[in-house]
Amino acid sequence: RAFNFCAGPAALPTEVLEQARDEMLDWQGRGISVMETSHRNPEFMAVAAQAEQDLRDLLAIPDNYRVLFMQGGATAQFATVPLNLLGKRMSADYLDTGHWSSKAIKEASRYCQVNVAGSSADANYTTVPDASRWRLSTDAAYVHYTPNETIGGLAFVDIPDTGDVPLVADMSSSILSEPLDISRFGLIYAGAQKNIGPAGITLVIVREDLMGFASDACPSLQNYQLVSDNDSMLNTPPTFAWYLSGLVFQWLKRQGGLKAIQALNQRKAGKLYAAIDGSDFYSNPIETAYRSIMNVPFRLADDALNSTFLSESADAGLLNLKGHRVVGGMRASIYNAVPEAAVDALVAFMADFERRYG
Ligand code: PLP
Repeated sequence: RAFNFCAGPAALPTEVLEQARDEMLDWQGRGISVMETSHRNPEFMAVAAQAEQDLRDLLAIPDNYRVLFMQGGATAQFATVPLNLLGKRMSADYLDTGHWSSKAIKEASRYCQVNVAGSSADANYTTVPDASRWRLSTDAAYVHYTPNETIGGLAFVDIPDTGDVPLVADMSSSILSEPLDISRFGLIYAGAQKNIGPAGITLVIVREDLMGFASDACPSLQNYQLVSDNDSMLNTPPTFAWYLSGLVFQWLKRQGGLKAIQALNQRKAGKLYAAIDGSDFYSNPIETAYRSIMNVPFRLADDALNSTFLSESADAGLLNLKGHRVVGGMRASIYNAVPEAAVDALVAFMADFERRYG
């Protein structure tokens, strides 16, 4: 297989794809695919229950949190969060750290008054806004932030302390990359297509006491209480994506869980940043302490070499290294399923490319 550095949909573990391939025509000896099974059948209900249990085990999710498997991606949650959590309040606080938090702010502004409590826009999103300067409001329904900005490659080190105000996090590109203290959060959401499974599933982990306050305008499918009451099967769910996500959770357990995967992720990122920092040819603009271990953007000394870098890296089996169009340059997304050998191959390719063109 080629090494895939795509930001999303991202690489899946080869073992998981092999299992899915082997079962494609005949799942559990039933003569049909899991895709062709009713979500109401006991065998699929067991898949759903197992996926939830494995996720709960991996993240040590406390009993007073519900796990929801929704649809619409993280983008749907940009609206779903205010539609559910505002209750009688009119405003919410948001931290602005780049592309995805800006998108969340824009969408939430359609439903409530958004107070941008902190922003690193002035620093071109190369750092996280200084917590001592945040202007959190007292009457906010919640505080929203993006722990890992997938495009900028910027990550928070600490979980913000918001006192009694529920903290909401878009963890699309960081969930399951390291252990997490779920009890610090009111709600976590994540599109699946990076560290969870195929696109089509959206994971929501929500503290029970925050459910039940959806506005009348909230569509039923986006109403956390209704989705929870119906075991995330208010309508036909994306069963295959759900099944594969469950296989990824089991794969993660076999890797030793989130502590083990965190150590591996840190080693992978460490190698790549060392290669970038050790050369005058490559650069990464993010303040060192806030560099993402999942998404590593980098530029070449001369943008004119970008297309050569991309075509030669693709020929070498290193795929999808093109940076997002809003920042340009390159980006290597090194999620859980990207093996260390992929990073080693990329680092070797980068050194060779520099030797030939630098
Ligand atoms: N938030 C973050 C942090 C992301 O990385 C992405 C996608 O890359 C999104 C939101 C949008 O996700 P979706 O495509 O699932 O709506």
